[in-house]
Amino acid sequence: MRPNPTLADLPLRPELVGEEPYGAPQLDVPVCLNVNENPYPPSAATLTDMAEAIRAAAYHRYPDREFTRLRGQLADYLGHGLGVENVWAANGSNEVMTHVLGAFGGPGRRVLSFTPTYSMYPEYARNTHTAYVTAPRRADFTLDAELVLGAIAEHDPSVVLITTPNNPTGTTTPLAVVEEVVAGTDAIVVVDEAYQEFSRTPGATALSLLPRYGNLVVSRTMSKAFAFAGGRLGYLAAAPAVVDACRIVRLPYHLSAQTQAVASVALAHADEMLARVDDLRAARDDLVARSRELGFEVVDSDANFALVGRWADRHLAWQQLLERGVLVRETGPAGYLRVSAGTPEEMEAFLAALAAIDAPRM
Ligand code: PMP
Repeated sequence: MRPNPTLADLPLRPELVGEEPYGAPQLDVPVCLNVNENPYPPSAATLTDMAEAIRAAAYHRYPDREFTRLRGQLADYLGHGLGVENVWAANGSNEVMTHVLGAFGGPGRRVLSFTPTYSMYPEYARNTHTAYVTAPRRADFTLDAELVLGAIAEHDPSVVLITTPNNPTGTTTPLAVVEEVVAGTDAIVVVDEAYQEFSRTPGATALSLLPRYGNLVVSRTMSKAFAFAGGRLGYLAAAPAVVDACRIVRLPYHLSAQTQAVASVALAHADEMLARVDDLRAARDDLVARSRELGFEVVDSDANFALVGRWADRHLAWQQLLERGVLVRETGPAGYLRVSAGTPEEMEAFLAALAAIDAPRM
């Protein structure tokens, strides 16, 4: 082969031809409200503890492959009587999900999700050679057991993804619906609770169902409420056998010594790391109410973001906001932009920009 080949010269898997690497634009602008981060950094004291933990880690040795201490801390954080054997983790819940699909998806199998939903799911499916099938949510973006079980009967998936609160709509699926679904199938049901801490009912979590249903997997992340997106730590809770299945497909030592050390410090400071969740819930409610006062359509949200719209050309609206120093996300149902809850200053900047732009609406 000639030097410096193009992708077309390489024996790329056919299903990857024409694909682009996934990711929201990473732009250096004053107000970033595009990836649902927690805008509040850890305190100086916590950062000092993180630095000390990194200094103390043994870099000439491989890290603990089973990261038992961290799993114990995650289990304690989750409560619900969970132990080390119920918890699994990886570099972000994105990687956790590839473990789940690596173990329970694969050639000839299907993973089912309910659209509009998180745009990474089809990529996990593709990368694990799992077929990706979807069913639309109701017009108000809700799910009920009839819809979900009907789609399961139609598609016969080995894995079902229920995202609650859902990204990008912010919609919660009631616990009773989740229970009816989990009870009505033997497929692995992954309840993606990446945004659960922001919910109006954070206690209504599928974790409470785990003792009764062996096919239930609850996925969580430290990237959102926990203010640890840069640390890359996602995790799940499930029956020990599900954890064992993930252990079969993970790469050995996938969680580095630094990741384990820093995440462990973050969990030891859970109260501080989570201290701004109430503020962010209030910022979300304010974002929804004030955008509506400006005459925009906004979807009710239980997460730390909301869909605002609707524009005839949402890319133009996105561009006009960007010109005013505000980066939001061009994703979700037609005409909407997704806006993360930020600091009071960021929210004022967004609302001022929103009031100023003139992109035509639907
Ligand atoms: N699930 C959902 C629904 C998400 O929105 C995200 C992040 N955008 C993730 C999972 C992945 O988060 P992370 O890999 O940072 O843990």
